[in-house]
Amino acid sequence: MNDEMPIQPPNASEAHWRGRAGPVFAGNLAFEDVSFSARGKQILSGISFSLEAGRIACLLGPSGCGKSTLLKLAAGVLRPLQGRILLDRQEVAGPRHFVPPEKRSVGLMFQDFALFPHMTALENVAFGLTALDRSEARRVATLALERVGLLPLRDSYPVMLSGGEQQRVALARTIVPRPQVILMDEPFSSLDQRLREIIRNDTLSILKETRATALLVTHDPQEAIEFADWIYLMRHGAIVQGGTPEDVQRHPVDADAARFFRSYNEFSGSVSKGKVNTAVGPVDASNLPEGTRVLVMVPPEDIKLAVSESESEAQVTESRFVGPNTHLRLQLAEGEDVVAVAITAESAPKPGQFCNLAIEARNTHIFTV
Ligand code: ATP
Repeated sequence: MNDEMPIQPPNASEAHWRGRAGPVFAGNLAFEDVSFSARGKQILSGISFSLEAGRIACLLGPSGCGKSTLLKLAAGVLRPLQGRILLDRQEVAGPRHFVPPEKRSVGLMFQDFALFPHMTALENVAFGLTALDRSEARRVATLALERVGLLPLRDSYPVMLSGGEQQRVALARTIVPRPQVILMDEPFSSLDQRLREIIRNDTLSILKETRATALLVTHDPQEAIEFADWIYLMRHGAIVQGGTPEDVQRHPVDADAARFFRSYNEFSGSVSKGKVNTAVGPVDASNLPEGTRVLVMVPPEDIKLAVSESESEAQVTESRFVGPNTHLRLQLAEGEDVVAVAITAESAPKPGQFCNLAIEARNTHIFTV
């Protein structure tokens, strides 16, 4: 596929096909205090957010927290018990009003791609273009398949396509009617890791090119960080934090939010003279009142080591090169604690060596308990 090759506009809607992949009519998606329950079980409560047109957001959270249910509410597959959902400021679900899925301008993409097995790649993509006549639909679908690099396989049936190829067909089918909002439920999870990265990057550039509004469900923090402009972190049917990938990592709202993105060495303590003294050294807490009970979360790279010739604070028990850094585990001399440290490979001490430790708080978090 030649990336530079412009897609020619279809006759029917020329003005909307200026970009290489053709822009969608990006819309704003808003939830206002939405709740949902099924069979007497509260699944979502108090969901409020507004996703601006052209933004790509991820719903991120552990299994069962309600991500897919929220997506289904946006699609119109489910109806909220309370609250309103708006697409481009028009109410599509509310106490008095409900627009069914087929009348909403949303594109859906699922984990299993849900392609029709008896249709070729081209027929699958053309299927939703009901507003166009048959030859025009095939022409537009051909352009979309070209954009996702699958033109040579347009006459293949899904069973003849690899997982990555099926994903591309599903993406072409989702974007081709140019929906206001694209909703994606774990669309990369059935692909192996290397392919997942390639397809994810490709999908992202196509979404950016089409200036689509997209909401993606994932339980993989790395995927959310790499894919989204904005992350909504969910837990137990509620959004606990919304922010840019940098915000949610640098300023987690609580300890569980921090743990969701990475691992930490955790120490309980209390503030004394503006500091908390942990087993690996003091950390500044001058913004907290004296005596406050806290949890200090220190990521492996915030622990600094000084190798000692004599027996001292900690002894290296394990060392593993995880390029470009070495990950160490150290047994503290006092107590049972083992700490994890990440250090540049060149300066890593060997198993058996003793070290003194200190905290250099760059990405360390302190939460009151
Ligand atoms: P996963 O990442 O595992 O797909 P999720 O965050 O997408 O999880 P949902 O599929 O939205 O979670 O489900 C949220 C909760 O609601 C789960 O506990 C699920 O069992 C429950 N649930 C979903 N649909 C129904 C239903 N129709 N009836 C009863 N419970 C349901």
